[in-house]
Amino acid sequence: MNKELLYLPSMKNNKFSILKKLLFEKKNIVILPHSNPDGDAVGSCLALMELLKLYGHKTTVISPNHPPDFLKWVPGFNEIVYYDNNEDLSRTEIENADLIFTLDFNNLSRIGELEKIVILSNATIVMIDHHQNPENYADLIFSDPEISSTCELLYKIILKLGYEKNINSKISSCLYLGIMTDTGSFQYPNVTSETHKIVSKLIDHNINQSEIYNKVYNNSSTSKLKVLGIALNNLIIIKELKTTYMFLTREDLKMCNFKKGDSEGIVNYGLTLKNIIFSVIFIEDIEHENKIKISFRSHGSFSCNEFAKKYFNGGGHTNAAGGFHKGPINEVINKFTKSINNYKVKLTEK
Ligand code: 5GP
Ligand code: MN
Repeated sequence: MNKELLYLPSMKNNKFSILKKLLFEKKNIVILPHSNPDGDAVGSCLALMELLKLYGHKTTVISPNHPPDFLKWVPGFNEIVYYDNNEDLSRTEIENADLIFTLDFNNLSRIGELEKIVILSNATIVMIDHHQNPENYADLIFSDPEISSTCELLYKIILKLGYEKNINSKISSCLYLGIMTDTGSFQYPNVTSETHKIVSKLIDHNINQSEIYNKVYNNSSTSKLKVLGIALNNLIIIKELKTTYMFLTREDLKMCNFKKGDSEGIVNYGLTLKNIIFSVIFIEDIEHENKIKISFRSHGSFSCNEFAKKYFNGGGHTNAAGGFHKGPINEVINKFTKSINNYKVKLTEK
C-alpha cells in the first residue's frame, strides 16, 4: 500500500473517511492483540475480524500467545493464529498484509517478538486503543484513554464508518465481552451512559449476556481458587498508605497446578478492603526465569499508570496498570515498599 494514498487532497481529511477509503478495496488484513490477550483484546480483534470478513477482506488475527481458556467460546476463537507456535504462518501473513490493525495496545513492545516483523512491514498500520500515552508507530491512530474499552471504541468507529447494519450477534457477543471485562462488569468510573447505550444495542442483537458472564467469571478451575487462596493468605496491608499487596511465588503456583489465567482478577480483591485505595500483586513468571509480572489497581485519582511507568517498566490506565521486574521477588517488593513512600500525599489525600 502506498502510504501517500492516505492523504489524497481530494479526500476529506478525517480519520474515519481515510479508514473507510482504505477498506473500499478487498485487502489482506492482519489484526494483532497484545501478548497475554484479555477479554477486551480478544473481543475487539474477533469482532473486527468477523466484520471485515463480511466485507470480503481476507482477515487473520495473529496473537503473540494464547489467551486464557475461559475465552475459548468467543466466536472466531478457533481461527486465531498464534505466533508462539506458528511463527512461519504469522510471518507470511504479516509480510503479505496491506493493512494491519493493532488493537488494545499502543506500544509495539506489547507484542513481543512480533514487533520486529511488524516494523519491517509495508502495510498501513491502524491503531485502535484506549491506553494512555500512545506511541507513534501507526499511520492512523484511534486512541481515546477516556473510553472504557477498545471494544466500546471499536463500536463507535463501526458506527462512524456506517457499518452498523452488519453488526450481528457474533460481533455483539465479542464487543459485549470486551466492555464487560474491561469495566469490571460496569463498575469503573469510565463507564458512561454512552457505554450502557452501546451495551443495550448489543443486547438487542440477541446475545446471551448472562451466559457470557458465567463463561468468564463462573468458570473457575480448582487451581484458580487455590491460587486465590494462597494470594489472599499472603496479603500485606500498609494501612498508613492505604495500600495492600499480595505475591505468588513459582513454588506457590506449581503447588496449585497453576494454569494461565488463574491469577487474573486476584489483585482486585485488595480493593474490596475498607480504606484501601491501592492494590498490587507480584507474580513470578513461570515461563521466564527471573521475571515478575506486576498488576496495579486503584480507586479514585491515584494513577496506577504513572506509578507502573515510573518504577516498573509498565503502564495502562489510571485505575488499572501492569508492569514487570527482573530480579528476585524480595527485591521487587523492597523496591515497591520504598517507592510508595514517595506517594504518601497522593495515597492519603481525601
Ligand atoms: P493487568 O494487570 O490486567 O495485566 O493489566 C492491567 C492494564 O495494564 C491493562 O489495560 C493492560 O493492557 C495494561 N498493562 C499490563 N501490563 C502492561 C505492561 O507491561 N506495559 C504496559 N504499558 N501496559 C500494561
Ligand atoms: Mn482494554
